Amino acid sequence: MSRIGVVGLGYVGLTTAACLADLGHQVIGVDIDEGRLTILRKSKLPIYEPGLEELVERGTRSGRLSYTSRIEKGLEQAEFVFLAVGTPPDRRGGADLTALKVAAEEIGRNLVDNLVVINKSTVPIGTGDLVSDIVAKSRSSDKIAFSVVSNPEFLREGSAVNDFMHPDRVVLGGHDRVAAERVAELYRPLECPVLITDLYTAEMIKYASNAFLATKISFINEIARICEKLDADVSVVSEGMGMDRRIGAAFLDAGIGFGGSCFPKDVKALARMAQEMGYHPELLHTVMDINRDMRNLVVDRLEELLGGLRGQRVGILGLSYKPNTDDLREAPAIDIIEALLKRGAQVQAYDPVAMPRAKQVLNGGVTYARDAYGVAKKADALAVLTEWNQFRSIDLKRLRTTMRRPVIVDGRNIWEPDRMRELGFVYRGIGRR
Ligand code: NAD
Repeated sequence: MSRIGVVGLGYVGLTTAACLADLGHQVIGVDIDEGRLTILRKSKLPIYEPGLEELVERGTRSGRLSYTSRIEKGLEQAEFVFLAVGTPPDRRGGADLTALKVAAEEIGRNLVDNLVVINKSTVPIGTGDLVSDIVAKSRSSDKIAFSVVSNPEFLREGSAVNDFMHPDRVVLGGHDRVAAERVAELYRPLECPVLITDLYTAEMIKYASNAFLATKISFINEIARICEKLDADVSVVSEGMGMDRRIGAAFLDAGIGFGGSCFPKDVKALARMAQEMGYHPELLHTVMDINRDMRNLVVDRLEELLGGLRGQRVGILGLSYKPNTDDLREAPAIDIIEALLKRGAQVQAYDPVAMPRAKQVLNGGVTYARDAYGVAKKADALAVLTEWNQFRSIDLKRLRTTMRRPVIVDGRNIWEPDRMRELGFVYRGIGRR
Protein backbone atom coordinates (compact mmCIF):
# COMPACT_ATOMS: atom_id res chain seq x y z
CA MET A 1 0.00 0.00 0.00
CA SER A 2 1.36 3.41 -0.97
CA ARG A 3 0.44 6.95 -0.03
CA ILE A 4 -0.59 8.79 -3.14
CA GLY A 5 -1.64 12.35 -3.89
CA VAL A 6 -3.75 13.13 -6.96
CA VAL A 7 -3.81 16.76 -8.06
CA GLY A 8 -6.86 17.72 -10.13
CA LEU A 9 -10.12 15.85 -9.58
CA GLY A 10 -11.80 16.00 -12.98
CA TYR A 11 -12.67 13.03 -15.19
CA VAL A 12 -9.11 11.68 -15.12
CA GLY A 13 -7.98 12.66 -11.61
CA LEU A 14 -11.10 11.54 -9.80
CA THR A 15 -11.15 8.23 -11.64
CA THR A 16 -7.45 7.70 -10.87
CA ALA A 17 -7.92 8.60 -7.19
CA ALA A 18 -10.99 6.40 -6.71
CA CYS A 19 -9.50 3.42 -8.57
CA LEU A 20 -6.17 3.58 -6.73
CA ALA A 21 -8.03 3.76 -3.40
CA ASP A 22 -10.05 0.74 -4.49
CA LEU A 23 -6.80 -1.10 -5.19
CA GLY A 24 -5.89 -0.53 -1.54
CA HIS A 25 -3.77 2.62 -1.60
CA GLN A 26 -4.15 5.60 0.69
CA VAL A 27 -5.18 8.41 -1.65
CA ILE A 28 -5.65 12.11 -1.06
CA GLY A 29 -7.28 14.02 -3.90
CA VAL A 30 -6.37 17.69 -4.24
CA ASP A 31 -8.43 20.25 -6.14
CA ILE A 32 -8.59 24.03 -6.03
CA ASP A 33 -12.31 23.98 -6.76
CA GLU A 34 -13.95 24.07 -3.32
CA GLY A 35 -17.41 23.52 -4.84
CA ARG A 36 -16.16 20.27 -6.33
CA LEU A 37 -14.72 19.18 -2.96
CA THR A 38 -17.95 19.94 -1.11
CA ILE A 39 -19.85 17.67 -3.49
CA LEU A 40 -17.19 14.94 -3.19
CA ARG A 41 -17.17 15.05 0.60
CA LYS A 42 -20.85 14.06 0.43
CA SER A 43 -19.73 11.06 -1.67
CA LYS A 44 -21.48 12.59 -4.67
CA LEU A 45 -19.95 13.25 -8.07
CA PRO A 46 -19.31 16.69 -9.57
CA ILE A 47 -19.31 15.02 -13.03
CA TYR A 48 -21.39 12.33 -14.68
CA GLU A 49 -19.37 9.14 -15.00
CA PRO A 50 -21.09 5.73 -14.78
CA GLY A 51 -19.74 3.46 -12.04
CA LEU A 52 -17.53 6.10 -10.44
CA GLU A 53 -19.91 7.17 -7.68
CA GLU A 54 -19.90 3.67 -6.20
CA LEU A 55 -16.08 3.65 -6.07
CA VAL A 56 -15.91 7.14 -4.60
CA GLU A 57 -18.41 6.14 -1.94
CA ARG A 58 -16.51 2.94 -1.13
CA GLY A 59 -13.19 4.79 -0.98
CA THR A 60 -14.55 7.48 1.31
CA ARG A 61 -16.23 4.94 3.58
CA SER A 62 -13.05 2.86 3.90
CA GLY A 63 -11.08 5.97 4.83
CA ARG A 64 -8.66 5.34 1.95
CA LEU A 65 -9.94 8.23 -0.15
CA SER A 66 -10.11 11.78 1.12
CA TYR A 67 -10.01 15.28 -0.36
CA THR A 68 -8.34 18.56 0.30
CA SER A 69 -7.74 21.90 -1.36
CA ARG A 70 -4.34 22.18 0.31
CA ILE A 71 -1.57 20.52 -1.62
CA GLU A 72 0.68 20.25 1.43
CA LYS A 73 -1.91 17.91 2.94
CA GLY A 74 -2.08 15.93 -0.28
CA LEU A 75 1.68 15.44 -0.18
CA GLU A 76 2.02 14.51 3.50
CA GLN A 77 4.17 11.36 3.55
CA ALA A 78 3.32 10.75 -0.09
CA GLU A 79 5.51 8.51 -2.23
CA PHE A 80 3.69 9.38 -5.46
CA VAL A 81 1.73 12.33 -6.73
CA PHE A 82 -0.31 12.23 -9.93
CA LEU A 83 -0.82 15.41 -11.91
CA ALA A 84 -4.23 15.32 -13.59
CA VAL A 85 -5.08 18.97 -14.11
CA GLY A 86 -6.66 20.24 -17.32
CA THR A 87 -4.54 21.22 -20.33
CA PRO A 88 -7.14 22.97 -22.51
CA PRO A 89 -6.31 24.45 -25.91
CA ASP A 90 -4.74 27.89 -25.85
CA ARG A 91 -5.59 30.59 -28.38
CA ARG A 92 -2.95 29.42 -30.84
CA GLY A 93 -4.04 25.77 -30.82
CA GLY A 94 -1.32 24.59 -28.44
CA ALA A 95 -1.92 23.21 -24.95
CA ASP A 96 -2.46 25.72 -22.17
CA LEU A 97 -0.12 24.60 -19.40
CA THR A 98 -1.08 27.27 -16.85
CA ALA A 99 -2.75 24.86 -14.41
CA LEU A 100 0.04 22.33 -14.80
CA LYS A 101 2.73 24.90 -14.06
CA VAL A 102 0.90 26.17 -10.99
CA ALA A 103 0.44 22.62 -9.71
CA ALA A 104 4.11 21.75 -10.37
CA GLU A 105 5.22 24.83 -8.47
CA GLU A 106 3.01 23.93 -5.51
CA ILE A 107 4.37 20.41 -5.52
CA GLY A 108 7.90 21.84 -5.54
CA ARG A 109 7.20 24.11 -2.60
CA ASN A 110 5.78 21.23 -0.58
CA LEU A 111 8.11 18.56 -1.86
CA VAL A 112 8.74 15.48 0.27
CA ASP A 113 11.88 13.43 -0.22
CA ASN A 114 11.93 10.77 -2.96
CA LEU A 115 8.56 11.79 -4.35
CA VAL A 116 7.70 10.49 -7.81
CA VAL A 117 5.72 13.11 -9.71
CA ILE A 118 3.59 11.30 -12.29
CA ASN A 119 2.11 13.31 -15.09
CA LYS A 120 -1.22 12.03 -16.36
CA SER A 121 -2.31 15.24 -18.06
CA THR A 122 -1.87 15.23 -21.84
CA VAL A 123 1.04 17.56 -22.46
CA PRO A 124 3.28 18.65 -25.33
CA ILE A 125 6.42 16.61 -25.84
CA GLY A 126 9.10 17.76 -23.42
CA THR A 127 6.70 19.00 -20.74
CA GLY A 128 8.04 16.40 -18.31
CA ASP A 129 11.31 18.34 -18.36
CA LEU A 130 9.44 21.56 -17.75
CA VAL A 131 7.67 20.03 -14.74
CA SER A 132 11.03 18.80 -13.49
CA ASP A 133 12.56 22.28 -13.80
CA ILE A 134 9.65 23.96 -12.03
CA VAL A 135 9.66 21.45 -9.15
CA ALA A 136 13.45 21.71 -8.82
CA LYS A 137 13.39 25.51 -8.76
CA SER A 138 10.57 25.82 -6.25
CA ARG A 139 11.71 23.22 -3.71
CA SER A 140 13.12 24.56 -0.46
CA SER A 141 16.37 22.58 -0.75
CA ASP A 142 18.11 20.83 -3.62
CA LYS A 143 18.77 17.95 -1.24
CA ILE A 144 15.13 16.90 -1.54
CA ALA A 145 15.14 14.30 -4.29
CA PHE A 146 12.32 13.65 -6.77
CA SER A 147 11.67 12.14 -10.19
CA VAL A 148 9.18 12.91 -12.92
CA VAL A 149 7.48 10.11 -14.82
CA SER A 150 5.10 10.57 -17.73
CA ASN A 151 2.08 8.27 -17.53
CA PRO A 152 -0.37 9.29 -20.25
CA GLU A 153 -3.97 8.37 -19.62
CA PHE A 154 -6.05 6.54 -22.24
CA LEU A 155 -9.39 6.20 -20.42
CA ARG A 156 -12.58 7.19 -22.18
CA GLU A 157 -15.29 9.23 -20.53
CA GLY A 158 -18.37 7.09 -20.10
CA SER A 159 -16.31 3.98 -19.34
CA ALA A 160 -13.51 5.59 -17.33
CA VAL A 161 -13.53 3.17 -14.38
CA ASN A 162 -13.51 0.09 -16.58
CA ASP A 163 -10.78 1.57 -18.78
CA PHE A 164 -8.63 2.42 -15.77
CA MET A 165 -9.07 -1.01 -14.21
CA HIS A 166 -8.64 -2.93 -17.50
CA PRO A 167 -6.21 -0.93 -19.60
CA ASP A 168 -4.85 -2.27 -22.89
CA ARG A 169 -1.48 -1.01 -21.73
CA VAL A 170 0.17 1.33 -19.27
CA VAL A 171 2.79 3.65 -20.72
CA LEU A 172 5.49 5.07 -18.48
CA GLY A 173 8.31 7.33 -19.57
CA GLY A 174 11.06 9.17 -17.83
CA HIS A 175 14.77 9.77 -17.52
CA ASP A 176 14.82 7.73 -14.31
CA ARG A 177 13.98 4.10 -15.06
CA VAL A 178 13.88 3.09 -11.38
CA ALA A 179 11.17 5.69 -10.74
CA ALA A 180 9.19 4.40 -13.75
CA GLU A 181 9.47 0.88 -12.35
CA ARG A 182 8.17 2.08 -8.99
CA VAL A 183 5.12 3.48 -10.79
CA ALA A 184 4.73 0.21 -12.71
CA GLU A 185 4.36 -1.52 -9.33
CA LEU A 186 1.23 0.54 -8.64
CA TYR A 187 -0.37 -0.96 -11.75
CA ARG A 188 0.73 -4.54 -11.07
CA PRO A 189 -2.70 -5.72 -9.78
CA LEU A 190 -4.21 -4.73 -13.13
CA GLU A 191 -2.13 -7.42 -14.89
CA CYS A 192 -1.74 -5.43 -18.08
CA PRO A 193 1.22 -4.86 -20.40
CA VAL A 194 3.47 -2.04 -19.18
CA LEU A 195 5.63 -0.19 -21.68
CA ILE A 196 8.50 1.72 -20.13
CA THR A 197 10.14 4.21 -22.43
CA ASP A 198 11.90 7.56 -22.45
CA LEU A 199 10.00 10.68 -21.49
CA TYR A 200 9.43 12.18 -24.93
CA THR A 201 8.31 8.90 -26.46
CA ALA A 202 5.75 8.34 -23.70
CA GLU A 203 4.34 11.83 -24.18
CA MET A 204 4.23 11.23 -27.95
CA ILE A 205 2.42 7.87 -27.62
CA LYS A 206 -0.56 9.70 -26.17
CA TYR A 207 -0.79 12.25 -29.00
CA ALA A 208 -0.13 9.67 -31.69
CA SER A 209 -2.83 7.35 -30.29
CA ASN A 210 -5.47 10.07 -30.16
CA ALA A 211 -4.49 11.41 -33.58
CA PHE A 212 -4.77 7.91 -35.04
CA LEU A 213 -8.24 7.31 -33.60
CA ALA A 214 -9.37 10.73 -34.83
CA THR A 215 -7.94 9.85 -38.25
CA LYS A 216 -9.98 6.64 -38.31
CA ILE A 217 -13.12 8.66 -37.65
CA SER A 218 -12.36 11.25 -40.32
CA PHE A 219 -11.39 8.48 -42.71
CA ILE A 220 -14.71 6.69 -42.39
CA ASN A 221 -16.52 10.01 -42.66
CA GLU A 222 -14.74 10.70 -45.93
CA ILE A 223 -15.74 7.22 -47.12
CA ALA A 224 -19.33 8.04 -46.02
CA ARG A 225 -19.37 11.12 -48.23
CA ILE A 226 -18.11 9.06 -51.16
CA CYS A 227 -20.68 6.31 -50.39
CA GLU A 228 -23.45 8.89 -50.71
CA LYS A 229 -22.23 9.81 -54.17
CA LEU A 230 -21.87 6.18 -55.28
CA ASP A 231 -25.02 4.75 -53.69
CA ALA A 232 -23.21 2.47 -51.21
CA ASP A 233 -24.04 2.06 -47.50
CA VAL A 234 -21.22 3.14 -45.20
CA SER A 235 -22.52 1.23 -42.18
CA VAL A 236 -22.10 -2.04 -44.08
CA VAL A 237 -18.78 -0.84 -45.51
CA SER A 238 -17.58 -0.25 -41.91
CA GLU A 239 -18.80 -3.65 -40.87
CA GLY A 240 -16.96 -5.29 -43.74
CA MET A 241 -13.79 -3.33 -43.07
CA GLY A 242 -13.94 -3.92 -39.32
CA MET A 243 -13.96 -7.68 -39.80
CA ASP A 244 -10.40 -7.37 -41.03
CA ARG A 245 -8.27 -7.75 -37.93
CA ARG A 246 -5.63 -5.49 -39.40
CA ILE A 247 -8.23 -2.70 -39.44
CA GLY A 248 -10.51 -3.44 -36.47
CA ALA A 249 -14.09 -2.30 -36.01
CA ALA A 250 -13.54 0.39 -33.37
CA PHE A 251 -13.81 4.07 -34.32
CA LEU A 252 -15.21 3.22 -37.73
CA ASP A 253 -18.74 4.56 -37.26
CA ALA A 254 -19.57 7.31 -39.73
CA GLY A 255 -21.37 10.30 -38.29
CA ILE A 256 -20.93 13.91 -37.38
CA GLY A 257 -17.39 13.40 -36.18
CA PHE A 258 -15.35 13.56 -33.02
CA GLY A 259 -15.58 16.05 -30.18
CA GLY A 260 -14.83 16.09 -26.49
CA SER A 261 -12.00 17.37 -24.41
CA CYS A 262 -9.30 15.22 -26.03
CA PHE A 263 -9.33 14.43 -29.76
CA PRO A 264 -9.90 17.96 -31.10
CA LYS A 265 -7.39 19.60 -28.80
CA ASP A 266 -4.80 16.85 -29.04
CA VAL A 267 -4.83 16.67 -32.85
CA LYS A 268 -4.57 20.45 -32.96
CA ALA A 269 -1.74 20.54 -30.43
CA LEU A 270 0.21 17.80 -32.25
CA ALA A 271 -0.16 19.68 -35.54
CA ARG A 272 1.00 22.84 -33.81
CA MET A 273 4.07 21.09 -32.34
CA ALA A 274 4.98 19.73 -35.78
CA GLN A 275 4.50 23.12 -37.41
CA GLU A 276 6.66 24.81 -34.79
CA MET A 277 9.44 22.38 -35.61
CA GLY A 278 9.17 23.13 -39.33
CA TYR A 279 7.12 20.12 -40.45
CA HIS A 280 3.73 20.61 -42.11
CA PRO A 281 1.40 17.87 -40.81
CA GLU A 282 -0.80 17.54 -43.89
CA LEU A 283 -2.78 14.51 -42.69
CA LEU A 284 -3.59 16.00 -39.28
CA HIS A 285 -4.92 19.18 -40.90
CA THR A 286 -7.11 17.15 -43.23
CA VAL A 287 -8.44 15.12 -40.29
CA MET A 288 -9.51 18.36 -38.59
CA ASP A 289 -10.99 19.82 -41.78
CA ILE A 290 -13.10 16.74 -42.49
CA ASN A 291 -14.29 16.76 -38.88
CA ARG A 292 -15.37 20.39 -39.08
CA ASP A 293 -17.16 19.76 -42.39
CA MET A 294 -19.26 16.99 -40.85
CA ARG A 295 -20.80 19.54 -38.48
CA ASN A 296 -21.60 21.87 -41.37
CA LEU A 297 -23.12 18.96 -43.27
CA VAL A 298 -25.86 18.47 -40.66
CA VAL A 299 -26.87 22.11 -40.82
CA ASP A 300 -26.77 22.21 -44.64
CA ARG A 301 -28.75 19.01 -44.85
CA LEU A 302 -31.46 20.33 -42.52
CA GLU A 303 -31.61 23.52 -44.54
CA GLU A 304 -31.93 21.59 -47.79
CA LEU A 305 -34.65 19.25 -46.52
CA LEU A 306 -36.65 22.07 -44.94
CA GLY A 307 -36.18 24.50 -47.82
CA GLY A 308 -34.52 27.07 -45.55
CA LEU A 309 -34.07 27.32 -41.80
CA ARG A 310 -35.55 30.70 -40.90
CA GLY A 311 -38.44 30.22 -38.51
CA GLN A 312 -38.18 26.42 -38.64
CA ARG A 313 -38.39 24.53 -35.38
CA VAL A 314 -35.52 22.05 -35.11
CA GLY A 315 -35.37 19.47 -32.33
CA ILE A 316 -31.98 18.26 -31.15
CA LEU A 317 -31.64 14.75 -29.75
CA GLY A 318 -28.43 14.59 -27.74
CA LEU A 319 -26.00 17.31 -26.72
CA SER A 320 -22.98 15.59 -25.16
CA TYR A 321 -20.14 14.76 -27.54
CA LYS A 322 -20.81 11.07 -26.99
CA PRO A 323 -23.18 8.93 -24.90
CA ASN A 324 -22.70 8.27 -21.18
CA THR A 325 -21.11 11.60 -20.41
CA ASP A 326 -22.31 15.11 -19.69
CA ASP A 327 -19.15 16.57 -21.22
CA LEU A 328 -19.89 19.29 -23.77
CA ARG A 329 -16.33 20.35 -24.50
CA GLU A 330 -16.01 20.63 -28.30
CA ALA A 331 -19.30 18.76 -28.68
CA PRO A 332 -20.59 18.89 -32.29
CA ALA A 333 -24.03 19.80 -30.89
CA ILE A 334 -22.76 23.16 -29.66
CA ASP A 335 -21.46 24.25 -33.09
CA ILE A 336 -24.51 22.83 -34.85
CA ILE A 337 -26.98 24.59 -32.54
CA GLU A 338 -25.12 27.87 -32.84
CA ALA A 339 -25.17 27.59 -36.66
CA LEU A 340 -28.88 26.74 -36.66
CA LEU A 341 -29.69 29.74 -34.46
CA LYS A 342 -27.58 31.97 -36.68
CA ARG A 343 -29.55 30.86 -39.72
CA GLY A 344 -32.80 31.74 -37.97
CA ALA A 345 -34.02 28.33 -36.75
CA GLN A 346 -35.77 27.84 -33.41
CA VAL A 347 -34.01 25.14 -31.44
CA GLN A 348 -35.39 22.81 -28.80
CA ALA A 349 -33.13 20.19 -27.29
CA TYR A 350 -33.06 17.14 -25.09
CA ASP A 351 -30.17 15.20 -23.57
CA PRO A 352 -30.46 12.63 -20.76
CA VAL A 353 -27.65 14.22 -18.68
CA ALA A 354 -26.02 17.18 -20.41
CA MET A 355 -28.81 19.78 -20.25
CA PRO A 356 -27.66 21.51 -17.04
CA ARG A 357 -24.22 22.05 -18.60
CA ALA A 358 -25.75 23.11 -21.92
CA LYS A 359 -27.69 25.86 -20.15
CA GLN A 360 -24.35 27.27 -18.96
CA VAL A 361 -22.54 26.84 -22.28
CA LEU A 362 -25.17 28.02 -24.78
CA ASN A 363 -26.13 31.66 -24.50
CA GLY A 364 -29.91 31.31 -24.50
CA GLY A 365 -32.04 30.89 -27.59
CA VAL A 366 -32.58 27.18 -26.90
CA THR A 367 -35.54 25.63 -25.11
CA TYR A 368 -35.12 22.31 -23.33
CA ALA A 369 -37.55 19.41 -23.31
CA ARG A 370 -38.19 16.72 -20.72
CA ASP A 371 -37.75 13.85 -23.16
CA ALA A 372 -37.40 12.96 -26.83
CA TYR A 373 -41.13 13.34 -27.47
CA GLY A 374 -41.01 16.82 -25.96
CA VAL A 375 -38.27 17.72 -28.40
CA ALA A 376 -40.31 16.39 -31.31
CA LYS A 377 -43.37 18.42 -30.36
CA LYS A 378 -44.36 20.60 -33.33
CA ALA A 379 -40.83 20.21 -34.71
CA ASP A 380 -40.22 20.71 -38.40
CA ALA A 381 -37.17 18.48 -38.18
CA LEU A 382 -35.13 16.45 -35.71
CA ALA A 383 -31.37 16.01 -35.67
CA VAL A 384 -29.77 13.12 -33.77
CA LEU A 385 -26.42 14.37 -32.50
CA THR A 386 -25.56 11.86 -29.73
CA GLU A 387 -26.17 8.12 -29.97
CA TRP A 388 -27.64 7.66 -26.49
CA ASN A 389 -28.98 4.12 -26.17
CA GLN A 390 -32.38 5.33 -25.02
CA PHE A 391 -32.89 7.05 -28.40
CA ARG A 392 -32.67 3.69 -30.15
CA SER A 393 -35.83 2.51 -28.37
CA ILE A 394 -37.93 5.60 -29.03
CA ASP A 395 -41.50 4.87 -30.13
CA LEU A 396 -41.05 6.09 -33.69
CA LYS A 397 -44.74 6.09 -34.56
CA ARG A 398 -45.40 8.37 -31.61
CA LEU A 399 -42.45 10.54 -32.59
CA ARG A 400 -43.83 10.85 -36.12
CA THR A 401 -47.27 12.00 -34.95
CA THR A 402 -45.73 14.48 -32.51
CA MET A 403 -43.71 16.26 -35.19
CA ARG A 404 -45.09 18.97 -37.43
CA ARG A 405 -43.04 17.71 -40.38
CA PRO A 406 -41.43 14.27 -40.32
CA VAL A 407 -37.87 15.29 -41.27
CA ILE A 408 -34.98 13.56 -39.51
CA VAL A 409 -31.25 14.07 -40.02
CA ASP A 410 -29.59 11.25 -38.13
CA GLY A 411 -26.04 12.35 -37.45
CA ARG A 412 -25.21 9.08 -35.70
CA ASN A 413 -26.92 6.55 -37.94
CA ILE A 414 -28.95 5.05 -35.09
CA TRP A 415 -31.96 4.08 -37.21
CA GLU A 416 -32.43 2.01 -40.36
CA PRO A 417 -33.21 4.19 -43.38
CA ASP A 418 -35.73 1.75 -44.96
CA ARG A 419 -37.71 1.40 -41.76
CA MET A 420 -37.78 5.16 -41.23
CA ARG A 421 -39.11 5.72 -44.73
CA GLU A 422 -41.74 3.02 -44.21
CA LEU A 423 -42.87 4.91 -41.14
CA GLY A 424 -43.29 8.03 -43.24
CA PHE A 425 -40.18 9.96 -42.27
CA VAL A 426 -38.06 12.01 -44.64
CA TYR A 427 -34.87 10.49 -43.28
CA ARG A 428 -31.21 11.12 -44.01
CA GLY A 429 -28.36 9.39 -42.21
CA ILE A 430 -24.67 9.87 -42.93
CA GLY A 431 -23.27 7.86 -45.83
CA ARG A 432 -26.39 5.73 -46.21
CA ARG A 433 -28.96 5.43 -48.95
P1 NAD B 1 -10.97 18.38 -15.98
O1 NAD B 1 -11.04 19.77 -16.52
O2 NAD B 1 -12.21 17.56 -15.91
O3 NAD B 1 -10.34 18.42 -14.51
C1 NAD B 1 -9.22 19.16 -14.14
C2 NAD B 1 -9.31 19.44 -12.65
O4 NAD B 1 -8.09 20.04 -12.23
C3 NAD B 1 -10.43 20.42 -12.27
O5 NAD B 1 -11.22 19.85 -11.24
C4 NAD B 1 -9.66 21.66 -11.74
O6 NAD B 1 -10.34 22.35 -10.72
C5 NAD B 1 -8.38 21.01 -11.23
N1 NAD B 1 -7.23 21.92 -11.09
C6 NAD B 1 -6.80 22.89 -11.93
N2 NAD B 1 -5.69 23.48 -11.43
C7 NAD B 1 -5.41 22.88 -10.26
C8 NAD B 1 -4.38 23.02 -9.27
N3 NAD B 1 -3.42 23.93 -9.40
N4 NAD B 1 -4.42 22.23 -8.20
C9 NAD B 1 -5.39 21.30 -8.05
N5 NAD B 1 -6.39 21.12 -8.94
C10 NAD B 1 -6.40 21.88 -10.03
O7 NAD B 1 -9.87 17.65 -16.85
P2 NAD B 1 -9.86 16.12 -17.35
O8 NAD B 1 -10.85 15.92 -18.43
O9 NAD B 1 -9.87 15.21 -16.16
O10 NAD B 1 -8.42 16.09 -18.04
C11 NAD B 1 -7.22 16.18 -17.30
C12 NAD B 1 -6.05 15.86 -18.21
O11 NAD B 1 -6.13 14.50 -18.67
C13 NAD B 1 -6.00 16.72 -19.48
O12 NAD B 1 -4.68 16.96 -19.82
C14 NAD B 1 -6.64 15.83 -20.53
O13 NAD B 1 -6.20 16.12 -21.83
C15 NAD B 1 -6.17 14.46 -20.10
N6 NAD B 1 -7.06 13.36 -20.48
C16 NAD B 1 -8.39 13.50 -20.39
C17 NAD B 1 -9.22 12.43 -20.73
C18 NAD B 1 -10.73 12.58 -20.66
O14 NAD B 1 -11.41 11.70 -21.19
N7 NAD B 1 -11.27 13.61 -20.04
C19 NAD B 1 -8.67 11.22 -21.14
C20 NAD B 1 -7.29 11.10 -21.18
C21 NAD B 1 -6.48 12.18 -20.86
